[in-house]
Amino acid sequence: MPDPRDDIDNQPPRFADVDLFLTDQPLCEAVAANGAAGESDALTAFGRHWGRAAMFVRAALADSHPPRLHGEAVRFHPAYHAFMAESMAAGLHCSTWNADGSPAGAPAEVARAARFYMVAQVENGHMCPITMTRASVAALSAQPELRAELMPKIVSHAYDPAFAPWPKKSAMTLGMGMTEKQGGTDVRTNTTQAVRDGDAYRITGHKWFMSAPMSDAFLVLAQAPDGLTCFFMPRFRPDDRLNGLHFQKLKDKLGNRSNASSEVEFLDAYARRVGDEGRGIRTIIQMVQLTRLDCAISSAGLMRAALSRALHHARHRVVFQRKLADQPMMRAVLADLALDCEAAVAVVMRLCRSFDQAFSDPLERARSRMLTPAVKYWVCKTAPAFVYEAMECLGGNGYVEDHVLARLYREAPVNAIWEGSGNVMALDLLRSFKDADEAGAVLASLKDETRGLPEAESALADIGRMLKAQDAEANGRRIAGTLAILAAAAALQSTAPEIASEFARTRLRGGSRLYGTPPGNAKRLLERAAPA
Ligand SMILES: Cc1cc2nc3c(=O)[nH]c(=O)nc-3n(C[C@H](O)[C@H](O)[C@H](O)COP(=O)(O)OP(=O)(O)OC[C@H]3O[C@@H](n4cnc5c(N)ncnc54)[C@H](O)[C@@H]3O)c2cc1C
Repeated sequence: MPDPRDDIDNQPPRFADVDLFLTDQPLCEAVAANGAAGESDALTAFGRHWGRAAMFVRAALADSHPPRLHGEAVRFHPAYHAFMAESMAAGLHCSTWNADGSPAGAPAEVARAARFYMVAQVENGHMCPITMTRASVAALSAQPELRAELMPKIVSHAYDPAFAPWPKKSAMTLGMGMTEKQGGTDVRTNTTQAVRDGDAYRITGHKWFMSAPMSDAFLVLAQAPDGLTCFFMPRFRPDDRLNGLHFQKLKDKLGNRSNASSEVEFLDAYARRVGDEGRGIRTIIQMVQLTRLDCAISSAGLMRAALSRALHHARHRVVFQRKLADQPMMRAVLADLALDCEAAVAVVMRLCRSFDQAFSDPLERARSRMLTPAVKYWVCKTAPAFVYEAMECLGGNGYVEDHVLARLYREAPVNAIWEGSGNVMALDLLRSFKDADEAGAVLASLKDETRGLPEAESALADIGRMLKAQDAEANGRRIAGTLAILAAAAALQSTAPEIASEFARTRLRGGSRLYGTPPGNAKRLLERAAPA
């Protein structure tokens, strides 16, 4: 349908009906380089479908009509349900698992990540239950008989929003409850109590943040007689009565507005144990590792969405008789943004390959363990400043709600905060260095892959020095950031060596981190970011 605003003098036409896959050369290359070339046709169809004008309209509707709590139920706008149905039909909540809950194997992670990255360019709120459902299977593997019961509902592609016991539904989604008032990062301070009741448990306490409260069940942490333990807590008890979850309110959030995030009290809530008592953190961390990966993929997608809009605007808007895209300083800004965007997609797709191969290759397993916190740290922390700079490329239009940049800007910080904030990622990375053999192997592989790139050798030596120093923890962010940049340069090296070199030269050397220093190969970067 034509938009009356399409004809306004010197205002760019709507950004709509875009092929989110084929117009993104760095994405196409990263997919192929990481073993999913065979998915190209399916990804093209997916990219065209998600880039339709109707999808962007629906995303704006979901964002501007946030969910509301009505008694024990949460009501969402139909647009939110439509996105859930789309993403589940595409299997984004389960495609990395076989029907029995074992990993699907290569290239399932890479193929899913490419889709997830494109969805993140359209609507972000509904991705929260999607990511938690897919990640929950990793924690459920600690309780195989429970996983076997749940898998048929988890791998179903039919979204079923009914407020009903999960065994009676055609499909289910799962959420996660760890964070309490007195401690989020430090879950050992959790006070929620679990008491045994026959084969099951009764849980009393609260969670300060629990997103996607209309999920059919949650994996929650609570103190059992033998210590902090992971539990499966469904919305309904086995006799079909409502379970003891009492939602106090929905959080009023900066962004991520189409998604609901609740405060909840548990009163004798029925639950089943997942894994042994006292091993709650070890169990749920299997899930969290995957949600952290998804945070990085989704932040890379947000960056791509912002860059696409900035390029689109600059190619249509004329200022001082010349298109913005032809003005040297604007080109420097756009190309500098494109460089980070290339690096972000390259590094997340390479990391997904490590997850794909983790079960057969010890080095890839070590890479997935060590590089996930570093990559989440760097990509998710890069996104907010990146989106802000892209917003400024649109001038005043960037700041108003008619254009999507304002929404992307509100959305960008959350991926850095939830699932472990920046410092926590750096601390997690430092912990992983305790396995000296694994850490040594990962660093050696990065050294090989970045050989000859500017600044790479000295950056690796810096990491070594910082790790040995007394104040290693104080330098945790520097170590995480440098490691992620090296991993990104290594990933780019296999797809676009000149860009890898430019990225390493500019990002590993200190200096201003404000965007706009012209990269050496600006023309090429801009062509790769979007065909003119
Ligand atoms: C929109 C939204 C939805 C959420 N949904 C869920 C959910 O569904 N389930 C769930 O369980 N949680 C959820 N959370 C909670 C989220 O995971 C936590 O807020 C986050 O992990 C940080 O925990 P905290 O808020 O308790 O902050 P704190 O633990 O108090 O941390 C505050 C700051 O201190 C830093 N810090 C912590 N320890 C150290 C240290 N040793 N050294 C240096 N710095 C440190 C952290 O990096 C952080 O920046 C959600 C949060 C948001 C914003």
